[in-house]
Amino acid sequence: MNRSDAERIASVFEATGYTQTNSESEADFIVTIACSVRQHAIDRIYGKAREWQKRKQKEDLVTILSGCVLDKDKITMSKFFDLIFDINNVSKLAQFLEKIDPMAASSSSEVKDLEILRQSLRMTESNNFFSIRPKFNSTFQAYIPISTGCNNFCTYCAVPYTRGREVSRPMSEIIEEVKGLVQNGYKEITLLGQNVNSYGHDFPSAVIPSEAEESLKKQRVMDLSTRRSTKSVEMTNHFSRLIQAIDKIPGDWRGYFYSNHPKDFSDELIETISKLKHFPHYIHLPLQSGSDKIIKVMNRHYTQKQYLGLVKKIKNKIPEVTITTDIIVGFPGETEADFNQTKKVIKEVGFDMIYISKFSPRPGTKAAKMENNVSQKVKEKRWQKITDLLKRYLEKENKKYVGMVMKVLIDAEKNGKYYGRTDNYKVVELQNDVQPRTRLNIRKQTGPMGQLEDIKITASEAWMLKGEVI
Ligand code: SF4
Repeated sequence: MNRSDAERIASVFEATGYTQTNSESEADFIVTIACSVRQHAIDRIYGKAREWQKRKQKEDLVTILSGCVLDKDKITMSKFFDLIFDINNVSKLAQFLEKIDPMAASSSSEVKDLEILRQSLRMTESNNFFSIRPKFNSTFQAYIPISTGCNNFCTYCAVPYTRGREVSRPMSEIIEEVKGLVQNGYKEITLLGQNVNSYGHDFPSAVIPSEAEESLKKQRVMDLSTRRSTKSVEMTNHFSRLIQAIDKIPGDWRGYFYSNHPKDFSDELIETISKLKHFPHYIHLPLQSGSDKIIKVMNRHYTQKQYLGLVKKIKNKIPEVTITTDIIVGFPGETEADFNQTKKVIKEVGFDMIYISKFSPRPGTKAAKMENNVSQKVKEKRWQKITDLLKRYLEKENKKYVGMVMKVLIDAEKNGKYYGRTDNYKVVELQNDVQPRTRLNIRKQTGPMGQLEDIKITASEAWMLKGEVI
């Protein structure tokens, strides 16, 4: 989501006449996007901000902060930043940029004007996030927010306070955007929402775009046959309908969606995913903890039994599915017994990747008021234990891919070697030369980046596969 926010901010700058630089020392403006969960990231912003303060004494520099910034942080951060704006107000950023000349930012009348503008920007409550078209950094991968904000209030997370309540983007707008990108040669489309499964809960039931009507009619027939209320399906299945409609877009592309919430992952959605052509059978399903006690304190609204039941249903319907997850270790009150419950779930599910974070209290959230009673040393030990568990599992599991031919999107280059991702998001290191092909609408192409290739897997490790273009 932060990358996507950055692309929207870049597009406002571009529309105002600025260009992006990759060199921080050359920049006249620096925009920082804050993280929602980890205080560690906020601490790093303070470190950088102090550095920029010193630079401001010698040269002209304007610093801007957005993303997930709590009111409490805004007060302390305002000493360091020239503007702090709510990401939902990204379209208003243009007003600020039109007003400010970085070369004259220190003149007193300019500062006074800016102060008035800052106040008005802070006070604007409107959510116009989707009105800004992003400037995509990549010519083959695109992140498309389908909603912004969240209603879930997990106790460790700042999103509901910083981005506000969940607002869904109209379905027709998303479908049009994906169509345009695919027509322009994009190969990978990632739909983003803090909780994609609750997409559309805020739609009035009458607003259903024509492209999704057909599937809705079929769904109604199914509802009647199963004697379930159409109204409840309309409330819960907007996301299924959205991905079904997007899946119909023809072309050589693949789609993903993040993030799912186990409490909202419906049977209808499992059924839908099992039938999609363009969306690989890859599901990111954040667990956070395997202990019922900790899940409850996190305010996640499921139990270990329900999570495992959901995984079982998914695997029964989609046997080849890849499931990845997020886990927080060292949450307040997490005992060794609680941690063992998390390990139990990891062993039972067999995750293909686990994004592990060590709990770091984010001031302003409920969890920050809890006693942070797991020492850093214990958090590190638990982090390592999960990493070792995952490594051992993947060393064995990834062997099954050796000899297979897999579709790989080449998306990185390092020291003359190309890397890509399979449909189920495994990293593949390419062992032989890849011929660059002319790609649609790409005038200056320097290599095979962005190509979807058939790769024969020749070797496997825990964190990576190796393969050759055939
Ligand atoms: S679901 Fe929980 S963790 Fe995710 S954005 Fe919402 S409050 Fe934060």
